[in-house]
Amino acid sequence: MFTYLNPTIRQRLIANGQLVRIDAQGRTISAELPAPEGELSINVLGPIPLPIKLGGLEIQARWYATVRSTELAKVEGLASELSRHGGQRLFSMLASSMAVNSVLVVGDGEARRNPLVRVHSSCLTGDVFGSQRCECGPQFVSALDRMHRDPDGGLLIYMSGHEGRGIGLWAKAATYLLQDAGENTYEANRSLGLPDDSRDFSDAAALLHYFVGSEPFRLLTNNPKKIADLNAFGLKHISPVRHVTGISPWNTRYLAAKRDWGHALSDVDLDVGQTQE
Ligand SMILES: [Zn+2]
Repeated sequence: MFTYLNPTIRQRLIANGQLVRIDAQGRTISAELPAPEGELSINVLGPIPLPIKLGGLEIQARWYATVRSTELAKVEGLASELSRHGGQRLFSMLASSMAVNSVLVVGDGEARRNPLVRVHSSCLTGDVFGSQRCECGPQFVSALDRMHRDPDGGLLIYMSGHEGRGIGLWAKAATYLLQDAGENTYEANRSLGLPDDSRDFSDAAALLHYFVGSEPFRLLTNNPKKIADLNAFGLKHISPVRHVTGISPWNTRYLAAKRDWGHALSDVDLDVGQTQE
């Protein structure tokens, strides 16, 4: 991480406006002073031009990397400690434990004219491996594609700490084994003593306050709870836009459990799998 390797680079990025700090309401606060204690503040680094090619989709996006000040300070403190004791090789281990969320801006997404927004929970198996046990991968690509085609563009917020609805990759792997033994996705979480959904949307809300302000936006989601959670953080003008894609025989049971839990999915949406089972 640049900040503890070279503080002068940090200063230069702040001076260039490429590193800013925002509070929970999305207001810019000083990135030079120590972060206010006990309050949410997020460091936002970017924009970084990102030419994206995913399957047939080819777009130019602007990437912002974002991290909570508390997490960054913890890692920086440990890193300088390690540095004094010659533990430089452990930097990568420290940095990898830090939840760095991302914002991808597509097209005119920053113009605040009712952009399309997707708050996407990271899913290694779906997004990267292309697993069809869930529909995350197709939802991710389709979200970027819809933003690219939309005259008002869009913003994709990629929540790196949301793996397995917040329980982490290790526990998610265990829930897959429990699901294969007959439990549904929510029952499997409960068998492990974990909540149905432990995702925290406060970072996403702060980033939306910052990038979209109090303007209305359209949210690509089938999950009413996600809208309610963002509403609770003061984002009041959200129009839900259904985002149904990637349904296959491999995930209809998983999606049926999501529907029964409250997701806006219909029998027709899930029909593809049921007819082939
Ligand atoms: Zn997934």
